[in-house]
Amino acid sequence: MSVEYEAVIGLETHIQLNTKTKIFCSCKADSWEDAPNTNICPVCTGLPGVLPVLNEKVVEKAVLLAAAMHAEVQPLSFFDRKNYFYPDLPKGYQISQYDQSLAKGGYLELPVPASADADGKGYIRKVRIHKLHIEEDAGKTKKEKNRRFVDFNRCGVPLVEMVTEPDLRSADEAGQYLIRLRQLLRWLGISEGDMEKGNLRCDANVSIREKGSSILNTKTEIKNVNSIDAVKDAIRKEIERQIREVEKGNTIKPWTLDWDDNAGVLRMMRSKETEADYRYFHEPDLLPLEINEEWKKEILKNLPELPLERRARLMTEMQIPEYDVDILTGDCDLADYFEEAVKLYKGDAKKISNWLMNDVLRMRNELGVTMAEMKLTPAYLASLVRLMDEGKINITTAKNLLPKIQESGKDPQTLVEELGWAVVSDDAAIRVVCEKIVAQNPNEVQSYKDGKESLIGWFVGQVMREMRGKADAKLTQEILREVLGK
Ligand code: ADP
Ligand code: ZN
Ligand code: MG
Repeated sequence: MSVEYEAVIGLETHIQLNTKTKIFCSCKADSWEDAPNTNICPVCTGLPGVLPVLNEKVVEKAVLLAAAMHAEVQPLSFFDRKNYFYPDLPKGYQISQYDQSLAKGGYLELPVPASADADGKGYIRKVRIHKLHIEEDAGKTKKEKNRRFVDFNRCGVPLVEMVTEPDLRSADEAGQYLIRLRQLLRWLGISEGDMEKGNLRCDANVSIREKGSSILNTKTEIKNVNSIDAVKDAIRKEIERQIREVEKGNTIKPWTLDWDDNAGVLRMMRSKETEADYRYFHEPDLLPLEINEEWKKEILKNLPELPLERRARLMTEMQIPEYDVDILTGDCDLADYFEEAVKLYKGDAKKISNWLMNDVLRMRNELGVTMAEMKLTPAYLASLVRLMDEGKINITTAKNLLPKIQESGKDPQTLVEELGWAVVSDDAAIRVVCEKIVAQNPNEVQSYKDGKESLIGWFVGQVMREMRGKADAKLTQEILREVLGK
């Protein structure tokens, strides 16, 4: 009898917070584009006789994340020295938090969409948070030929380390978790959350077990994965490998694996040695971190409605499908725009959603602007859709109006008048054109009279072309039937 397996996955993430300056000094934090060793000072390079000063913005951003993860922000936490030797760590220790860290507990209720569900239904997976703390980043080393270079720009860049419990059950779930985390970071405005740029980093711990069992088997740890797709790919391959090993009767060794993105393969980096002894102790140069109720309240004033809550609310309040909501809550700006437009339109939210998801988003992407920067405001979109509802413009005109509104910043009503794009529902004006078209096309008229009634559409098209799309389509058809004598 063959055994059915399930995967057990826990993710360790490092999130680079987007503060202007580093965590313990005033050097610029984001030096992605800067030359090596240009954003450094005695503090972040660990020269003797200097003292770290905590950047409060780091605390504020980390508290926002903790609260958004439903974790309990601790009134008192400590910084600790994590001692180890490595060339990219000039102090010889990293300032981190150990057993009394910023927050306790927390979880993310992860919606796994039908597209990522083997049963095609979609479900919610609750992912608990095992650990959430603040720390400083280390520098970078790189090898060129037989020389090794070190860049200290990244030393002291603020990070949140956030580690999940082993609650994820597939590569797809791990991918969804990272997508939702990235969305949350951007939504809160605390990190770019970009794995390719390294401001969101992820190690994946993977084991397998018989489906339904609750034991935790030996895991392996995958490192150096630089995109969400690569995380999924690597986990999938590791699950398959572990199943093959177990089926052969071998045991899983607690290896650390390195993902080679170019080759799409996992390589053994090292077998897990006994845990390094980091000789943690409280950082003597920093005070304990005290977050009193007042400060916490002040910080949490900036906590918006969270993306998953907003997603759920929009689905019930506006009766629009999950697919739409996922796009519309993709970023906070867009969700704000959508809700504002629906409020002003007062009609069917799905109509606004359709315009927004297709034409408006396409235009925004082509222009490379944010929703907030659009001259086509929610009010203008609402009145554009209303003009169509009222039959004052047709859909072609509406589509042509979008870029005009965006260019001019004028409201659709005014533009329709200025451009003379209103639908013509003047019987006499349309009749003249209908008669002309009928006179010009005796062959089609004959076919129509012989019974090919579907030609009416063709005639309407000809009239429309002549009137540059502005004729009232329904009226045109009525007049044409009269003129054609049927
Ligand atoms: P380590 O001792 O290797 O540091 P931790 O207990 O700190 O392990 O957990 C590190 C990560 O590994 C966490 O994300 C955790 O959820 C995950 N993890 C722990 N045990 C397992 C397991 N048996 N299978 C998969 N992931 C696991
Ligand atoms: Zn510095
Ligand atoms: Mg650990």
